[in-house]
Amino acid sequence: MKTATCDYCNTKTIVVHRKYSGELICTNCFTNRIEKNIFQTISKYKMLRSQDKIVVGVSGGKDSLALLYNLIKIQKNNYHSKPIIAVTIDEGIRNYRANSIKNAIRFCKKYSIEHVIVSFEEKTGKSLDEIVDLKNNAEEHKYACNFCATIRRRLLNETAKELGADVLAMGHNLTDVAETFLMNVLFKRYKLIANQYMFKKETDELKKYFVKRITPLMKIPEEEIFLYSNLKKIDYYPSHCPYREKDPILRKRVLEFIQESKKFSPEIEFNLLNGFLEMSEILSNNYKSTSYNTCKECGYPCGNASLCLYCTYLKGVKE
Ligand code: SF4
Ligand SMILES: [Zn+2]
Ligand SMILES: [Zn+2]
Repeated sequence: MKTATCDYCNTKTIVVHRKYSGELICTNCFTNRIEKNIFQTISKYKMLRSQDKIVVGVSGGKDSLALLYNLIKIQKNNYHSKPIIAVTIDEGIRNYRANSIKNAIRFCKKYSIEHVIVSFEEKTGKSLDEIVDLKNNAEEHKYACNFCATIRRRLLNETAKELGADVLAMGHNLTDVAETFLMNVLFKRYKLIANQYMFKKETDELKKYFVKRITPLMKIPEEEIFLYSNLKKIDYYPSHCPYREKDPILRKRVLEFIQESKKFSPEIEFNLLNGFLEMSEILSNNYKSTSYNTCKECGYPCGNASLCLYCTYLKGVKE
């Protein structure tokens, strides 16, 4: 019987069998290919320019640390841009975030990366746990993720802007992108999909509010980032947010659906990514001329409303 060998170097120790491509790959070729994938995604989608100041959102989990690890190398070897800064948002989640922040701190120290930590508490007066406790009895009940995602996105953007960032790099992997796209389709959030179009012209108007977001891991499935981080011995925090386990959010079911479907159609996440790239372009042309209001509290764009979601949540918390 013929022994399986790596498709790239003929080594006999196979670490991964990619069902979506049929490839058999050894440890060395696998980690090299992941790094090449990240570099190629950055080049293909023109995510970085040579002098960009890069801010990286770092939670201390596998994705953000794998991203930071690669960006440090890419910045040194290829882009020679200004030093990277890591930003961690401390939402204030019991038995979770304080632990993962330790991993982020250790990692940044090891690679001498400037590290800025911003907390919900200092910026909004309440931790996420306090907001959730407050809102548990509210008429219009919302889950932790509703508040968390909106507030964190705003604080990350604000902090990146204050630090003079040209780009804000996020560790979203292929599975995350596929899941978000499917969620947005299910909730008919077409305008949001349009706004996520990666090649939209960065007008001065947009730049006034938002730092350009890049997602260099978007072509790598979650389980491969997991394997990569373990093989590279990246010291990440391995646990998940307790709210994700606890709340009956649809996102969880969507992920389960994708994972289940992958068993029969291994290419499904790539189809969703390509669907997202194509649809966001079509939709962004469709929503081009739509005018928008600016929030009366913070001045950010807020669609047809007079208060943006971030200020609406903050108002609810302060009342
Ligand atoms: S799972 Fe939800 S509550 Fe937890 S960190 Fe993510 S968005 Fe926040
Ligand atoms: Zn090999
Ligand atoms: Zn606002």
